[in-house]
Amino acid sequence: MTTYKTVNPANGTTVKEFDTLDAQGVERALASTHAGYQTWRITSPQHRAETLRKVADIYTERADELARSISLEMGKPLAEARGEVKLSSAIYRYYADHGPALLEEEHLDVPGAAESVVQRKPIGALIGVMPWNFPYYQVARFAAPNLMLGNTILLKHAPNCPQSALLMEEIFHQAALPEDAYVNIFATNEQIADMIADPRVQGVSLTGSERAGTSVAETAGRNLKKVVLELGGSDVFIVLDTDDIDATVKSATRARLSNAGQACNAAKRILVTEPYYDEFVAKLTESFAATVTGDPLDEKTTLGPLSSQTAADNLIEQIDDAVSKGATLHTGGKKIDGPGAFVEATLLTGVTPDMRAYSEELFGPAGVVYKVKDADEAIALANDSAYGLSGSVWSTDLDNARTVAEQLDVGMAFVNEHGTTLPGLPFGGVKRSGVGRELGPWGMDEFVNKKLVRVS
Ligand code: NAP
Repeated sequence: MTTYKTVNPANGTTVKEFDTLDAQGVERALASTHAGYQTWRITSPQHRAETLRKVADIYTERADELARSISLEMGKPLAEARGEVKLSSAIYRYYADHGPALLEEEHLDVPGAAESVVQRKPIGALIGVMPWNFPYYQVARFAAPNLMLGNTILLKHAPNCPQSALLMEEIFHQAALPEDAYVNIFATNEQIADMIADPRVQGVSLTGSERAGTSVAETAGRNLKKVVLELGGSDVFIVLDTDDIDATVKSATRARLSNAGQACNAAKRILVTEPYYDEFVAKLTESFAATVTGDPLDEKTTLGPLSSQTAADNLIEQIDDAVSKGATLHTGGKKIDGPGAFVEATLLTGVTPDMRAYSEELFGPAGVVYKVKDADEAIALANDSAYGLSGSVWSTDLDNARTVAEQLDVGMAFVNEHGTTLPGLPFGGVKRSGVGRELGPWGMDEFVNKKLVRVS
């Protein structure tokens, strides 16, 4: 049974609990967003854009309160939390700025009629199922383009960030978005399955684990509903060569450890060519060991707790499995004693395919470094994964690095940066990392009816 509650992961204290919806609550939410769609869809794109602009402004005005709420609920250090609020605001502003133009009709140069156009129409009420690791940003990626299109939203957030979920709903309403255009629901997974099946719902977007994605996609498939899935990753950070090993180590540390390593596109596998390998591992070990673990609300903290004790225990099991089968532990490897869900920044080498750490996503502050002979071996190892979210290639030879980046089986490939997320860049993966794209014009191209109107 799902329980929506705030538990401070830095000390294990339960702060506040919330009731889940009853049957009448589910019906009310469905009826309301369905009715809301009938009016929101016929508002002008300019009106929808101005509403999103107000949302963006309120995120800026209430940034500190928003940041503290996620730090408390899921343990993100305050500086990172402020960064997430700023990015979320930028996403609402991007769709406010670009939305009306993206909705203009497309004239087709096809003979035989006076006019053939494609219009971009909304499709109806949608369900968003979101994870706790970036509570505002994940919602913004889904809500901003879809509200811009004229769709309405039922939002089921992760059970451990209910207060942040309610804050987002409050801000939409503060920005004068009609109450029935965005409804937060504290729903169970069974209720979500019933809601996906309901004819008043037209699609579902889930960001989360493969397990959740598979389950939601099965229900959606049975009911012929459109899905977008943003799932896990085991992204590579490939160092071909460098003329500044300290800077590259710093980038690798950030790419692996920010958000306590709980990012879908974190650099979970670091591949380094032979000439650089020994020095790189030595310096990365030092860098991991120098992280400041502590209360996320303390400005000095650079590594907060994991989201829960279960998450910390799962990571420790994966690390122990690797070490027991012969992997080398360079630093970390243990939970930190106390009520908080803290795991030391951990670095492993010598990971082989028989170890869970080779093929599973390590969702916490644990990095794995592999030694590779050359770019070909790096590409082969990078692509030997069920996931395909993103990857980065680091080199002074930009042409060669770009050629390598192009050969990665991923949705997003970077040269000399890792995991850059901007409102105008597409976000999404291939293989078991998901289906569909968010952000930029692509994010408005998912739950849309590209409707042909032809006049002869
Ligand atoms: P999770 O356990 O899959 O939960 C994500 C959301 O899905 C939660 O709201 C969860 O609610 C819900 N959920 C789970 N099973 C469900 C079901 N059968 N029906 C309906 N809803 C269901 O994931 P997490 O552990 O919170 O998040 C970490 C995962 O998300 C990682 O794998 C990470 O890589 C991935 N992620 C991907 C992206 C991306 O953009 N590709 C971004 C961030 C995170 P309950 O807890 O109530 O079940």
